[in-house]
Amino acid sequence: MSDYSNFDVIVVGAGFYGATIAERAAASGLSVCIIDKRNHLGGNAYSSINKPTGIEVHQYGAHLFHTSNIEVWNYLNQFTKFTTYQHRVFAKYRGAIYSLPINLGTICQFFGRALSPDEARSLIAEQSSALAGRDPKNLEEKAISLIGRPLYEAFVKGYTLKQWQTEPHQLSASIIARLPVRYNFDNRYFNDTFEGLPMDGYTKIFERMLSSDKIVIKLGVDFFEVKANFQPRQRIFYTGSIDRFFNYQYGILGWRTIDFKWSIEDVTDYQGTSVVNYSDPEIPWTRIIEFRHFHPERNYRDGKTIIAKEFSRFAGENDEPYYPIDTVVDKEKFLKYRALADSITNVTFGGRLGTYKYLDMHQAIAMALRDAKRYFNH
Ligand code: FAD
Ligand code: UDP
Repeated sequence: MSDYSNFDVIVVGAGFYGATIAERAAASGLSVCIIDKRNHLGGNAYSSINKPTGIEVHQYGAHLFHTSNIEVWNYLNQFTKFTTYQHRVFAKYRGAIYSLPINLGTICQFFGRALSPDEARSLIAEQSSALAGRDPKNLEEKAISLIGRPLYEAFVKGYTLKQWQTEPHQLSASIIARLPVRYNFDNRYFNDTFEGLPMDGYTKIFERMLSSDKIVIKLGVDFFEVKANFQPRQRIFYTGSIDRFFNYQYGILGWRTIDFKWSIEDVTDYQGTSVVNYSDPEIPWTRIIEFRHFHPERNYRDGKTIIAKEFSRFAGENDEPYYPIDTVVDKEKFLKYRALADSITNVTFGGRLGTYKYLDMHQAIAMALRDAKRYFNH
């Protein structure tokens, strides 16, 4: 008998989808084994303390929790308290700093005018009039229809080219639809009802979610090296890449990855805020994250701060897959993989990699809560 045969449920991946499934399965009385090929919990939301500075860093990119889903919010609040952090982002363009997302402050500053909300609306309507009355077909058209051409050229075109290395008119309009545009001076990045950062870090959430004695955690274990041990009676929740599960038989799905260039700077405050986006196309990084600003309530010591510059590129086979590119060809491949997945009755494909979808954390949790109700009635 293998080490795995006594479990009712096997969960592959200890990110938010996998941890939620494991917690719900254990709460319904089932025995669970959760494995992850990494040597830590948390998936891409993992965070840890950087020893030289004492500052909490998010190893796989800055993670801001926000949701309007009360079920997800109440669920997660069982495992952590949240701070009152509200995310704000600034953009550097041609030597000046502007606030994002595009709001009345950005519009007034950019055009050097004191506009009322209605005056700003009229100005943007005029600047996007070429697209009036038709459905935007791609990211470029969607952005111009929302903010007009001059603001698009300044804040979206260069940044998007660096982020996707694809012409904005070849990208899906949905990528930019996530960002609000506001005709007031509200410069919060998210519109959601609930927002905050976990008081004692992301990793503690996962430790608490997986603390039941019905859950066994095995880290540093790759599903493909142990899958022969699993039985058909066991339900498997798989949150790895769907194309790898099927041995890439229809080809590789396209992802983008990020290279993080970390540095410790000998100043207390490097940029005065947590995130500055770089809109100029000549600057190779997309943004700089300064982690100390995520927790102003903590007494981080003075004199040193840790920052990460983000460089975006296509993901090769050994890179971390971060953003699904989702071209027309990718969509076709994914549908074929989806059809294969539907034919395997004891495996559920979940999360970001298993469904080839850009999911925010609250969406990954919502997906898992839905699947848990379906399979464990819990
Ligand atoms: P993951 O967290 O990716 O977990 C999947 C796990 O499966 C990983 O730990 C992986 O090691 C494991 N795994 C994969 N294959 C195997 C295998 N073969 N065997 C064993 N284990 C395997 N969301 C927000 O809400 N706010 C943000 O600010 C935010 N910022 C982000 C910034 C970046 C740069 C990125 C990339 C994502 C961001 N997200 C953010 C999205 C967030 O990371 C996801 O919503 C979340 O990670 C999804 O959880 P998951 O469980 O689906 O996947
Ligand atoms: N975007 C942009 N300029 C910015 C910020 C975002 O053009 O300063 C566009 C870009 O195409 C990006 C998309 O909006 O991919 C979504 O931005 P978001 O900040 O949500 O990206 P993420 O945090 O997921 O990287």
